[in-house]
Amino acid sequence: MTDKTLAKGSCNCGGVTFSVNVPVTDVYVCHCSICRKSTGSGGIAVTVVPTQSVSFHTGTELIKQWQKPNHDWLTNFCSVCGSPLPGKNDDQRTFIPVSLFDSGYEQLEVKHHIFTDSKASWEVIADNGKQHQGAFG
Ligand SMILES: [Zn+2]
Ligand SMILES: [Zn+2]
Repeated sequence: MTDKTLAKGSCNCGGVTFSVNVPVTDVYVCHCSICRKSTGSGGIAVTVVPTQSVSFHTGTELIKQWQKPNHDWLTNFCSVCGSPLPGKNDDQRTFIPVSLFDSGYEQLEVKHHIFTDSKASWEVIADNGKQHQGAFG
């Protein structure tokens, strides 16, 4: 529980590894239709950190990117195993799918659900995260 917390993460095949040198705490769950198709599930849970706090250690050559045409939605993913990977949130920040973390993620807690107006009909949100119909903020 110090500012020296170093969270480490990797994809399913282990080809891509990275670390974050700031504490990772807040989880945002996006329920939008694009994230649902991308994961084949109810959406994706990510945390957002300053881009300069993220270091890739191995596998950057394995990273592929897809941007939805005429849209700002994009995903980075491992070209070997298909795991979603950290990607650009905005000019200063990177989003990280939180299940990539292997260590240093003990403080993660769901704080916000976004695009709940698009959530799967079968999904029940049962935690205390604040629900937003569209994007956060
Ligand atoms: Zn991989
Ligand atoms: Zn989404």
